[in-house]
Amino acid sequence: MKLPPINLTLKDLNTCNYDRFILKSTIHMQEGEFVANVAQSQSSTNKTHSLKGYTAYPGLFNAHDHLLGTYYPRVGNGPYICWKPWDNDLKASKIYEERNRLPIEQIYLLSYYRHILSGVTTVCDHIPHLINDKQIESAYIRIVEQYCIAHEMSSYELIWGEDHEIEIQKAKRYNIPFVTHLEEGFDEESMRGVEVLIEKQGLSSNAVLVHCIACSEQDISLIAEKKASMVWCPNSNLFMFDKTANIKSFLEKNVNVSLGTDSPMSGSLHLLDEMKIASSVYKDFYNEAIPAQLIFKMVTQNPATAFKLNRLIGKIEPGKQADLILLKSKKGSPYERLIKAGIDEIEVVIRSGVPLYFHEKHKHLFYPDSLLKTHYERVRVIHKNTSNIAYLIGKPLKLKKRIQKSARFNKEIDFFPIEAP
Ligand SMILES: [Zn+2]
Repeated sequence: MKLPPINLTLKDLNTCNYDRFILKSTIHMQEGEFVANVAQSQSSTNKTHSLKGYTAYPGLFNAHDHLLGTYYPRVGNGPYICWKPWDNDLKASKIYEERNRLPIEQIYLLSYYRHILSGVTTVCDHIPHLINDKQIESAYIRIVEQYCIAHEMSSYELIWGEDHEIEIQKAKRYNIPFVTHLEEGFDEESMRGVEVLIEKQGLSSNAVLVHCIACSEQDISLIAEKKASMVWCPNSNLFMFDKTANIKSFLEKNVNVSLGTDSPMSGSLHLLDEMKIASSVYKDFYNEAIPAQLIFKMVTQNPATAFKLNRLIGKIEPGKQADLILLKSKKGSPYERLIKAGIDEIEVVIRSGVPLYFHEKHKHLFYPDSLLKTHYERVRVIHKNTSNIAYLIGKPLKLKKRIQKSARFNKEIDFFPIEAP
């Protein structure tokens, strides 16, 4: 990113981490990080602003997506026995053909805006390194860079990395995550996923296991015992299979669970929707509420732990990257407040001290007009019957036009609801 991080002190606002909610706090950001206090020599470079009535949350982390699959609408006619027939339907569809008219750069840019507008500053892009390596550096959001990968553990998987054993050993050697779909289906092979993973010595604290919808109680116990992480994508699961993982059992066995949207061609529009769906699915299946604070942890601290980034992100605290989002405070639980929020309520999104998105009323917090003009576009963001004028980094309106040109008609995409003001 070419923009320098902004040195900024925000005071009188609430700070909401998963383990602590602080009223009337002060947040200092310097050189892209949160700091305990502003060093004497640098104090003059920090602008101080009162943000009374607002709550700051850490930037959200979407633990499972395929950025290359960022398109709309969803494709599929489930329930399927496993992901493979869905993948066949996807690849035979008109929407897939249409998506393939877009160059990779356009698809990736679109994915950044989908995330930014919903408060996400970090994403795990489950895709071969060969595809996203060139995108990571210029991405507005943070894409997890250090990971080993498999598509999944079956004989009919897509080949996304080296041999499973090699990827698994590499992950252990460098202590980085080994990310794979697992038990995403109910055919014989899918249901043996955990067993196969163990045979390949892949069930360890480096493993990040996505979906796990066919996992038995015994599988879940083994996952817990080995301290592997799990990523739950309820909306994508329900869309493709009419079923999702036994999440209550994962939680009761203290597995580190994160939330992911999967690509919008099978999953949620964005992470804010996924949080709402996670909450309602839990209620429907178990007839009890899942604490909002726990769902919040699944999009902040837990994915930071799973991807071994918790020294860098996941909380607003000194030493961590200055990733934050701002919403107006409301009465009641700050966690519920966030989960119930629509994209219209995310007023500011900052990643490593660089504002990615902000409602126009906050523009005085950031750069001079000359920089705003060159690095942002002023846009209207539409949500249901409301709309807000905001600044969005890069050239989103231009991107929308380029996408429409590539698609060869005036394509509208529900997770990219912007227009010229
Ligand atoms: Zn996936």
